[in-house]
Amino acid sequence: MRKLQMVDLKGQYEKIKDQVDKAVIDVIDSTAFINGPEVKQFQEDLEKYLDVKHVIPCANGTDALQIAMMGLGLKPGDEVITTDFTFAATVEVIALLNLTPVLVDCDINNMNISIEAIKKAITPKTKAIVPVHLFGRAVDMDAVMALAEEHNLYVIEDNAQAVGGVYTSKDGKKKLGTIGDVGTTSFFPSKNLGCYGDGGAIFTNNDELAHTIRGIVNHGMYERYHHDVVGVNSRLDSVQATILKIKLPHLDGYNKARQKAAMYYSDKLGVNENIIVPVICDTCDCHVFHQYVIRITNGKRDGLLEHLQSKQIPCAIYYPIPLHRQKAYLDDRYKEEDFSVTNQLSDEVIALPMHTELDAEQQDYIINTILNYIN
Ligand SMILES: *Cc1c(COP(=O)(O)O)cnc(C)c1O
Repeated sequence: MRKLQMVDLKGQYEKIKDQVDKAVIDVIDSTAFINGPEVKQFQEDLEKYLDVKHVIPCANGTDALQIAMMGLGLKPGDEVITTDFTFAATVEVIALLNLTPVLVDCDINNMNISIEAIKKAITPKTKAIVPVHLFGRAVDMDAVMALAEEHNLYVIEDNAQAVGGVYTSKDGKKKLGTIGDVGTTSFFPSKNLGCYGDGGAIFTNNDELAHTIRGIVNHGMYERYHHDVVGVNSRLDSVQATILKIKLPHLDGYNKARQKAAMYYSDKLGVNENIIVPVICDTCDCHVFHQYVIRITNGKRDGLLEHLQSKQIPCAIYYPIPLHRQKAYLDDRYKEEDFSVTNQLSDEVIALPMHTELDAEQQDYIINTILNYIN
């Protein structure tokens, strides 16, 4: 059996090695390391793939979120609602910009931000909602967009975990990240579309916002050496862009491989009454399984984690502590009873190996080891 890994980046690389190696050498030969033609080419390929007017590449997914919020002109004191159950980057940039993060509970059925909780958290100071398509699963964007319209709020989709995912909205199918005012993603190596270092991008259909953001990523310059706004330096480099350009045509195939592996896990693990598997939709691509996360409901989650590790099966807890209980984001306004779902999830979730190279032999070993322990 191939060695088990949370993510098998090497196995994936081996299948495209010749193409990638040549493209990387070509960039080095050209010495156009920054803003080389590959960056523009990848940007255009991604615009076409996502069916979005503007893609603005940047240095990473955290920058992408920060720059999106800067581009929207959010001001200190503006309240931004997001989920209590996400990677810290989402809330970190809100706090960094001196905006006021308002964390809310999520929905037990899909682990995404709770629409009811958003409704309750809206105040006259609320300016934006940041839904996160957690683990690759689409948030109910029709509901989020309806609330945003009703209360005149911006929507920033944190799509770091769900690039390539599709949402079937009331107006038809749309790629995740292109539904709100602005969307962001990360090309961190282990993400569904990962490069070989750091990278990120911002998406929007709004011409004016795209123009503003293009200046912000480049030191606030709209004309060389004229700095109209305070910006940042955030670039996708040419080596990463050329790798992403090669990988993009494989993204749908990569996501299909993840969905197939997820289906295999769920068919076999879902029969155990103490294991809650993610709901899998076989009619659309609303879940692209950045992570495959199950819930263990009989109090044996921590024991299972140790057991799997002792059997050389890598696994992880995303996320062990909800954000409202993290020291950096404590706030007197938060009441524990408002976070019953995220508190429960942090005790029950466990992520299993999930990537594009999993085979049945590996999955059977993982599944049997779990079922033998959770009986
Ligand atoms: C990975 C991730 C980010 C940050 O991306 P980086 O490229 O690592 O900065 C932001 N939000 C979510 C939900 C993520 O999973």
